[in-house]
Order: sequence, then C-alpha cells, then structure tokens
Amino acid sequence: MAGEKVLIVEDKPEMIQILTDYVLGPQGYVTLTALNGEEGLHMALNEEPDLVILDLRMPKMSGLEVLKTLRERQCFVPVIVITAYGSEEVVVRALRLGANDYVAKPFALDEMTQVVERVLNKSKQEKERVRLAQELEIELNHMKSGFISMVSHELRSPLSHIIASTELMREAKLSSDQQQDLLNIIHLQSARLNRFVEQILDVSLLEAGTVQVEKRPVVLKPVLKQMIEAFALRANTHRFELTMPDRPLTVVGDEGKIQTVLDNLLENAVTYSPKGSRVFVEVSEDDKEVVISVIDEGIGIPATQLERIFERFHRVNTRDDQEQYGYGLGLYITKRLVELQGGKIWVASEVGRGSRFTFSLPKWSSASGEQGSEVDNE
Ligand code: ADP
Repeated sequence: MAGEKVLIVEDKPEMIQILTDYVLGPQGYVTLTALNGEEGLHMALNEEPDLVILDLRMPKMSGLEVLKTLRERQCFVPVIVITAYGSEEVVVRALRLGANDYVAKPFALDEMTQVVERVLNKSKQEKERVRLAQELEIELNHMKSGFISMVSHELRSPLSHIIASTELMREAKLSSDQQQDLLNIIHLQSARLNRFVEQILDVSLLEAGTVQVEKRPVVLKPVLKQMIEAFALRANTHRFELTMPDRPLTVVGDEGKIQTVLDNLLENAVTYSPKGSRVFVEVSEDDKEVVISVIDEGIGIPATQLERIFERFHRVNTRDDQEQYGYGLGLYITKRLVELQGGKIWVASEVGRGSRFTFSLPKWSSASGEQGSEVDNE
C-alpha cells in the first residue's frame, strides 16, 4: 500500500520526525502533521486523511477530545492513538470513543509499522464492503423498477384487450361471428394473464426455496405418451413423434414436475415452429441417466443467445417480435425444476432449422431407493 495520507497529530516534533522518517516515509505514505489538538481536528475534518495517528496528551485540546469531536461530527477516519506506557484506563476510553487501535510509548518502529498497515488494510476492506453494498443496492433497485414496469406492462396489455372486447360486445350491434371473434380474444388474453400469474408464482416459490420436489421412481413411457397425446389434441397444427427404447425406463423424480418440464418444452416447440412441422421426443439412456430431447423444426435460436436462454425474462428478439408469445420465464422454471430433480438441461439450435432441448434425469435402479416396490411395470 502506498500513497495513503496519514495525519500525525503530535506536539513533539522529534516524535513526528521519527514517525515520518522511519515508519511512514519508507512505506510510501504521504504525511500531514498537526502540532496540537485543535489544528489536528481541523485537518482531520478538512484534509480527508486515510488515517490519523493521534497523541493523547497534548496542549489546548487532548487527543480524547479530538477523537470524541471527530466521531460526533460523523467523521469515521481510522484513528491510532499513542498512549503513555501503563495508561490502560485511557486506552479503554479511547477505544470506547471509537479509536481503531493503539500503540503504547515507547514503541518499536516495527510494531508501529504493523499497526498502521493493519488499520489501513481493515479500513480499505470496510470501504470496499460499503462500496459493494451500495452498488448492490443500486442494482437491486434497478432490477426492482425493471421488474415492476415489466409486470405492469404484461398485466396491462392483455387486460386492455379484454376491456376493449367486452366494451365492444356491450355497446356495438355485432353479428354472432363477430361476437365469437371477440370471445376468442377474451379467452386467449385471459389464458395469457393466467399463465403469467402462474409463472410469476412459480418463480417466486422457486426463489424462496419452498418448492417441494419428490424423489420417487417415475416410469417414463406412460407420462410421455400422455403428454404427447394431450399436445396432439391441443396443438393439432403439429405432428408429434415419440422414439424411446423398448425396455421400461424408470427415473427418480417428481412426476408432476417432469410434466411441467415437458409441457414447457413442448409448448415452446409448438410456439416457435411453423404449422405442419414435426415435433420429436427422443429418449435414450446410459448407466446412470435417462436423457430426453424435445426437437422441433422451427425458427431456431441464434448462437449468441444460447447461453442466456435459461435466464429469467430472457426472450430472443425474433423478426416477428410484434407478436408477444411469452415472458421468458418458462425455460428458467424448467431449468430449476430439472436441477432440483438432480438433472441437467441444455440446448442445441440452428437458426432456420430448429432446436433440440435436452434434459437428463437420474435413472432409478432397485439399488438406488427403497421405493422400488411401488414401481409399476410398463
Ligand atoms: P417464453 O414464455 O417467452 O417462451 P421461455 O423461457 O420458455 O419463455 O423461452 C425464452 C425464449 O427462448 C423465448 O422467448 C424464445 O425466444 C426462445 N425459445 C424457447 N424455446 C424455443 C424454441 N423451441 N425455438 C426457438 N426459440 C425458443
């Protein structure tokens, strides 16, 4: 450390000389000096020293008074007091008034050098801690206001569609086809609101660490088949194909959470790929894991975005970005749920060709859990 300003408040010039020439100078500190308490107080308040070395016994104003006044004026510059040998009582008073350390006279030069270094180091660390805390607060505030404006936008936009549609239905004479169109809008926008509220709740539960995840054997085939059939009915615009090994595959996880993961991935595969295209679900296994991929023939994701795709609220700016599909929460929730079950998730994608989202789950074996008897065979 060098370049820090150290103020010596001391009435004996020979002591100032020793401190300057043998302690502070060789370490590269810049020295300021004051020959009495009053002057020392003034300089400590105005010269912004990094450290004050304060003799306690001085004419006009004692070191203790200087220290007391500094702290009363909210000046928290670190202070090392120099006391006479054997004056423990004064040391205690000085420490109570906010001195950071003390050195008793006569002192060894090494001892003084070490105390100066220690106090300056501590003060530097404290300043850094305060700076980081302030920085964090400014970040956090930024995130909070960003979050609030995003939430209000996401709530306002579907609500204004719903209000406008209901007003039209109430006030205009409409054909039954027109009424049907407006009802469709209302249904779509309400579903959008509902999804948003559900996802926000999921995120807050995940972040509060209050999501309960069961670790039980789950036989995959029926779960996958059921999900895919439900999607085929819901999204009859796409064709779904399931490929998996013939032998029964059982993972350790939470069936409901596995369904949420698949639901999010299948929903995205449908949303981000053209009508008439195919969505594949492929399952494979190794010794320890079962690996499930959801593959689409859609718009794909630019390579630069792949790393951020699982972050909260991250959405890729697509060319048709007038159309707001979602909120960038689905993949974040998906990743957290996979990880809570002991798995991993990753993505490979090519713009214009499609995406492959893959997640792994630990494989169940009779040796890995006592719940073995509960497992149904496929
Ligand atoms: P959203 O609800 O916005 O779809 P997600 O977290 O599920 O949120 O996805 C984040 C973003 O990742 C999406 O907005 C989209 O830009 C991109 N994305 C997700 N899945 C796919 C996919 N299968 N193909 C192309 N882009 C995708």
